[in-house]
Amino acid sequence: MTLTRAQSTTLARSLDALEKEVREKIRASMPQLADQKYIDLVGVVYDSADEAMASMQEEVDHTLLEHYLEKLKAIEAARARLDSGEINSCIECGDEIGFKRLHAYPFATRCIHCQTLHEKTYGSEAAPRL
Ligand SMILES: [Zn+2]
Repeated sequence: MTLTRAQSTTLARSLDALEKEVREKIRASMPQLADQKYIDLVGVVYDSADEAMASMQEEVDHTLLEHYLEKLKAIEAARARLDSGEINSCIECGDEIGFKRLHAYPFATRCIHCQTLHEKTYGSEAAPRL
């Protein structure tokens, strides 16, 4: 059930690449926020009462930023699962998620079987895509 070191490294690299991709998109549309930490970006979106953020917010597309934050959140969550060695076990049934699937889709938290069931029940919006 455990990933090999090489597999873990590969997944860590894909997550880094995905984060870079999201941050480049943020840079393209909201350059003033591109180098903010995830947690500070969350602040920009949700802490609208903060006066220091007020002038910045006028220039920020919130819907778009929230969309990117969802991606960054999914990446962070996948990193945590990778660190704790849980990235390849399905959150529903505990079965192994194949490396091929994780490689193609590092945010995956369910095995193919459970994902299919989940999408039938809840629709596919629960599976964030870049
Ligand atoms: Zn499963």
